[in-house]
Amino acid sequence: MHGLMQDWPLLTHRIIDHAASFHGTREIVSRSVEGPIVRHTYSELNAGARKMASALSGLGIKKGDIIGTMAWNGYRHMELWYGAMGLGAVVHTLNPRLFPEQLVYIINHAEDGYFFLDLTFVPILEGIQDRLKTVKGFIIMTDEAHMPDTSLRNAQCYETLKAGGDDGFQWPEFDEKTAAGMCYTSGTTGNPKGVLYSHKSNVLHALSSSSADALALSSVETILPVVPMFHANSWALVFAGPMTGASLVMPGAAMDGPSIYELLDTEKVTLTAAVPTVWQMLLMHLEETGKTLPHLKRVVIGGAACPPSMMDIFEDKYDVEVIHAWGMTEMSPLGSLCTRKGGLEDMPDKAWRAIQRKQGRPPFSIEMKIVDDAGEELPWDGKSFGHLLVRGPCVSSAYFKGEGGDILDKDGWFDTGDVSTIDEHGYMEITDRSKDVIKSGGEWISSIELENLAVGHRDVIEAAVIGVAHPKWDERPLLIIVRKEGSKVSREDLLEFLDGQIAKWWMPDDVVFVDEIPHTATGKIQKTALREQFADYRLPSADAAE
Ligand code: ADP
Repeated sequence: MHGLMQDWPLLTHRIIDHAASFHGTREIVSRSVEGPIVRHTYSELNAGARKMASALSGLGIKKGDIIGTMAWNGYRHMELWYGAMGLGAVVHTLNPRLFPEQLVYIINHAEDGYFFLDLTFVPILEGIQDRLKTVKGFIIMTDEAHMPDTSLRNAQCYETLKAGGDDGFQWPEFDEKTAAGMCYTSGTTGNPKGVLYSHKSNVLHALSSSSADALALSSVETILPVVPMFHANSWALVFAGPMTGASLVMPGAAMDGPSIYELLDTEKVTLTAAVPTVWQMLLMHLEETGKTLPHLKRVVIGGAACPPSMMDIFEDKYDVEVIHAWGMTEMSPLGSLCTRKGGLEDMPDKAWRAIQRKQGRPPFSIEMKIVDDAGEELPWDGKSFGHLLVRGPCVSSAYFKGEGGDILDKDGWFDTGDVSTIDEHGYMEITDRSKDVIKSGGEWISSIELENLAVGHRDVIEAAVIGVAHPKWDERPLLIIVRKEGSKVSREDLLEFLDGQIAKWWMPDDVVFVDEIPHTATGKIQKTALREQFADYRLPSADAAE
């Protein structure tokens, strides 16, 4: 027997309908690419998205078509995003930090029809347009006054296109399983692969991410998503913001410390989210200027491990609560968040801080387990580590066009490629990516843990650890350091700093100093590039062992 409740498909445009009805005056404040700060309300977003949907239909874009976007977090990107999804089209966001060859591959593979871009990216698209097989035209996301002189084919002005649309456009009804958004994973091995979100997965993910034990979002918050919309839906915030009536502050192209600080301060932001490298820039700015964060209550840090030293500075010096989060593009992307749960209220703060450093626990809709190499489930004791598997309605079931084949096991579990522990309270901690863990004499050393400790040294800006070949132990850790300007901190100083904080056999065999550590397009340390760079590196201990 079926229940007798209404069939109300979970469609993303319902989010902005709700926002316009009940939070119509709440704002989206954007640092525009043209320069000034611009302000819009959720009512305006709803009308603008309808107008855009109608204009897109006029271009011939229909349900199932894929449009490409290369744009910063800003009002126009949101309007286009909701308008296109509401039409049943798929918004494929591209990361401008990818190499041109990767962009060409991804746009051709996705078969993007029309392509929407911010002014910033005109040169990138001009450089690759001849190799883009499916793109019929480019829409530049600006007004007539700022239209550039461009060689892009069929270039059109966004505002002019929108002006021809109808803000009374009626959203069509369709199945909630319809594709809504697409994002390619950076593909550290092989070609990038397309993750295809549905309306239902986006709505469910926003609901579960905004719940009280996760991001605890509500209409009293002002949220600054520094994490870009092209980095896995800005971690749900562009959906969860309007869903809960929170105001949004969109940073546009400026993600440096002073620019982010300015928005946090003038807009009285209460919650913000980004990868650790962004926070490192902000903290340096605060240190240099002596400024503080009087309005900010919570900062979400994820995408890469949050170093404990960073957490301590936010919490103890600036009185900002850190929510460490973990996830991946294939998970929409949030998989776990570290917030204190019922039953741990009386735990002393120091003991809680030790747990807070972990990547956290999943909100409802995500199942999680750890298994050994044979697929046997491991205990939740905080010590046993194994492959982290996940399952749920916001987790990929396959990649676009079946790339990579079958990605689920027979029971529907997806292997995240991460190795982790889970403790008795259900808090998960990432040990490493399985590709990055250092295998020394049959035992595993966590590169993340060594990096986290090394950046705790006051002269270190960034640290990376990779495994280097060793005749006796297979692999041993090499610590790669970017020193603060003018610092003379030495190999011996750093090894001494680590001494006593780690098991003897975890001690890096050598330390090298570099000017810069390479990063991926999403701001993570690019271990593959470091492994190539140090492929011929001979550890002093390797010479001694032979
Ligand atoms: P990309 O490589 O394209 O940036 P994702 O953003 O999907 O891909 O990256 C997901 C991976 O990032 C995770 O599988 C995990 O290895 C790493 N990661 C994300 N958040 C954290 C975190 N808080 N701590 C440690 N690793 C993290």
